[in-house]
Amino acid sequence: MAFVEVKKLIKNYGEFCAVDNLSFEVEEGEIFGLIGPNGAGKSTTINVITTLDDFNGGSVTISGLDIVKNCSQIRGLVGVVPQEIALYPYLTALENVKFFASLYGLKGKELHESAMKALQFTGLADKVDMKPKKMSGGMKRRLNIACGIAHHPKLIVMDEPTVGVDAQSREHIMNSILTLKEKGATVIYTSHYMHEVETICDRIAIIDHGQLVASGTEQELVSMITDCRTIRVKTKWSADFDVNKLTTTLSALPGVNGASVDENVIKIDVKLTENDFSYIIDEIRKFGLPLISVNCETPDLDAVFLALTGHDIR
Ligand code: ADP
Ligand code: MG
Repeated sequence: MAFVEVKKLIKNYGEFCAVDNLSFEVEEGEIFGLIGPNGAGKSTTINVITTLDDFNGGSVTISGLDIVKNCSQIRGLVGVVPQEIALYPYLTALENVKFFASLYGLKGKELHESAMKALQFTGLADKVDMKPKKMSGGMKRRLNIACGIAHHPKLIVMDEPTVGVDAQSREHIMNSILTLKEKGATVIYTSHYMHEVETICDRIAIIDHGQLVASGTEQELVSMITDCRTIRVKTKWSADFDVNKLTTTLSALPGVNGASVDENVIKIDVKLTENDFSYIIDEIRKFGLPLISVNCETPDLDAVFLALTGHDIR
C-alpha cells in the first residue's frame, strides 16, 4: 500500500469543480511533485489531503488511515507549509515555531528543543528573537517551513514554498527538502516551476483544470513524448522586427506545439512525424533572419506539459 493514496478525489466550489476525479499515490520516503499552472487545483488538493478542507467525492488515506475517519491521527502525522504565509507578526521566530509545534502536543523541553532544531534547520538559528514583520520574504518563507516541521511529521506537505523568495532562500529551501527526505520524511511539493520539480522530485503528477494529465518519474513523463523535440534557433533581429508574427507563423506549422522567443533565441516545441524539421528552418529563413546556431534537444517537462495539454504552463 502506498503511503498516500488519493482516489477519484472530487472537490467542488458551488457549481465549479476544482478537483475533478484526481487519483495519485505517494510512496513512503519520496519527494512527490504536484505540478500545474495557477488555478490547476494544487492548493485545493493539498488542503483536502491535510484535512484543512472538506471534499465531495473519492477517498484519501495516509499511512493506511482514512482522512475522514481518522482525522485527528492524520493531523499528528502531517506537517503543512501553506502557500499563504501563516505567521504571527508580533511573536518572535522562536515563539511562532513553538506556538505551532505546541498545537501538536509538544511541551516543555521537547517543545523548546524541537523548535530550536527547526530554526537551525531552516537557517534561522541567529534570528530566533526576530519578529516576522522585520523579515525578508525569503526568511518568512523559511520560518513558515520551520513552523510546519518542528513536530517531526512523517508527511510534509509544502505548497509553493519558493514563490516570492530570493535565489539564496530558494536554494536553501530546495536543499532542506532533500535533507528532510534523507531523514526519512515523505514530502509532497507543489510548484508551477518545472525546473524545481525536475531537480528534487522522485515522481511527479502533472495536473491541469483539476485533472491528472500524467504522472511518473521525469524520465517516464519525457518518454511519453519520444517523438517530440525542442528546437532552439539562435538568431538576431532588429528592434522593428515583428517577433509576434514570427511566433504565430511558426506555431501554425504542422507538428509545432508551440513557439516562443527569449532574447535572440527562438524556441520551437515540435512533434516530429518524420525525423526532419527542415521546413521549420525554411520558414525562419523566409523572415530573412541569420542562423547563428540550431539545436535539437529531447524535451524537458515544460515541453511535456505543452504536448499533453496544448498550452504553456504559464
Ligand atoms: P492552484 O493552487 O493550482 O493555483 P487552487 O487549488 O488554488 O489552484 O484553485 C483551483 C481553482 O479553484 C481555481 O479556479 C480557483 O479560482 C478555485 N478556487 C479555489 N478556492 C476557492 C474558493 N474558496 N471558492 C471558490 N473557488 C475557489
Ligand atoms: Mg495554489
